[in-house]
Amino acid sequence: MGMKPKVLAANWKMNTDLQQGMKLAADINNKVNASGVEPHARIILGVPFIHLSEIAKIMDYRRFSLAAQNCAECDSGAYTGEVSAEMIKSTGAHYVIIGHSERRHIFKESYESLQNKVDVCLKNALRPIFCCGETLDDRKKEMHKKVVEEQLKASFFHVNEEYLMRSIIAYEPVWAIGTGETATPEQAQEMHEWIRTLLRDHYKNSNVDDVPILYGGSVKPGNASDLFKQQDINGGLVGGASLKAESFMSILKAF
Ligand code: PEP
Repeated sequence: MGMKPKVLAANWKMNTDLQQGMKLAADINNKVNASGVEPHARIILGVPFIHLSEIAKIMDYRRFSLAAQNCAECDSGAYTGEVSAEMIKSTGAHYVIIGHSERRHIFKESYESLQNKVDVCLKNALRPIFCCGETLDDRKKEMHKKVVEEQLKASFFHVNEEYLMRSIIAYEPVWAIGTGETATPEQAQEMHEWIRTLLRDHYKNSNVDDVPILYGGSVKPGNASDLFKQQDINGGLVGGASLKAESFMSILKAF
């Protein structure tokens, strides 16, 4: 078996203006380079669209990649206000977060729309960070496995094996996002193992252990290492704690 892939991805959401974002990115860049931590971890910063090209200029690209937090589902044309995958690619970004629960719930993004976004992203040589996760209600009804299976089957499992290997999956229980409540390492591992099993069943010829599955939901310096130790957890997608260089660095050191 190869080495377990390790990825730490930040999701800044709709925070920081351009100047604040540049400062935060520069701070993270300097701290990571000065510390020499975990050279095998891929670090991805998911920043607002308008920050992408500016931040791309100042990051050490050997250590960092940038992600957009969404993309249009069509290629180009009369879609006022949308940002296409091609545009994102041209900024120097390599990833797009797709299907974040805030996009699913607040902006009502459908399974079909997310499927299109995955496609348009891969077609433009961008890598999707595909998010899935159940609500508290789903969990109370013991539907969490079923819901995540449905989300993956509806919008992601149509990609071929080559594209699978370019992708990242993020398991983010909705009840743990921005709430301060984290899934226990055991709860998270159970779901990651389930996702790995679904991948193994569907992509029989691929080494699904090489597909990073990230946990997201109130990851903090204090809980990251117990989560990252789990067999099927390859790192985190971090919201709140990624907005301070110090806490993001502490999470990186937890690998
Ligand atoms: C997220 O936005 O993907 C997330 C997990 O947020 P937080 O870490 O703040 O819960």
